[in-house]
Amino acid sequence: MRTSDDSIQHYKVTFALDHDSFFRKACAECGLEYKIEADPADLQWNLGSPVSRCTKAMRSNDDNDDEPHKETCPYCGATSPSNDNHTEEFMRYGRIIIEREAMAPLINQFLSDMDRMFSQFNNSSFIKLTTSGSGFVPPIRPIIGPEPNDMRRIKLLCCNKTIKTLEHWASTIFCPYCATKLILL
Ligand SMILES: [Zn+2]
Ligand SMILES: [Zn+2]
Repeated sequence: MRTSDDSIQHYKVTFALDHDSFFRKACAECGLEYKIEADPADLQWNLGSPVSRCTKAMRSNDDNDDEPHKETCPYCGATSPSNDNHTEEFMRYGRIIIEREAMAPLINQFLSDMDRMFSQFNNSSFIKLTTSGSGFVPPIRPIIGPEPNDMRRIKLLCCNKTIKTLEHWASTIFCPYCATKLILL
C-alpha cells in the first residue's frame, strides 16, 4: 500500500522474522550472515533502506538527507552503513516493491498521456491510432520467508542486546552496535 503526502512516499514492507523475532542481515564486506533482534526502532531504519536506496537511485536530484546508521559485522569487524548489510534476497525484495509501488503509477500516467495524445490525433480523422490494454499491471507483492530458525543466540553484555551468529563460528566476534570485540566462551 502506498500513500502520498506531497513529495513523501510511504511504503508498507512485509518481511520475515524467525521464531525468536530475529531479522537476517549480511555483511557487505565478508558476505557472512548474522541476525539482529527485531527491535521496532531498529527495524525502521533497517527496513526503510532498500526502498529509500532504490528511490534515491531513481531520482536525479538526490537530497542527501539522513546520516547513515552504522553497523559492525560480528565476524570481520567491518563497520558500514547498516543499509549496506542486507541480504541479496532482501534487496531484491525492495527492488520489486519499488517496481510495483513506484513505477506502476508512472507507467500508467505515461499510458494515459499517450491515450490523450492519440485521441487528439483521432479527431483529425486522417490518422487512426489506439492504445490497447488497461494499463500496466504491477507484479504481485512478494513476501520473503519463511525465515528458518537457524544460528546461535549470543547475548552482548556491552549493549545488552542479543544477536545470532553462525553455529560454527567459534572465535571472537564484534558487537554490531558498539564494535566491541568479544571472546566467545
Ligand atoms: Zn563481515
Ligand atoms: Zn555493544
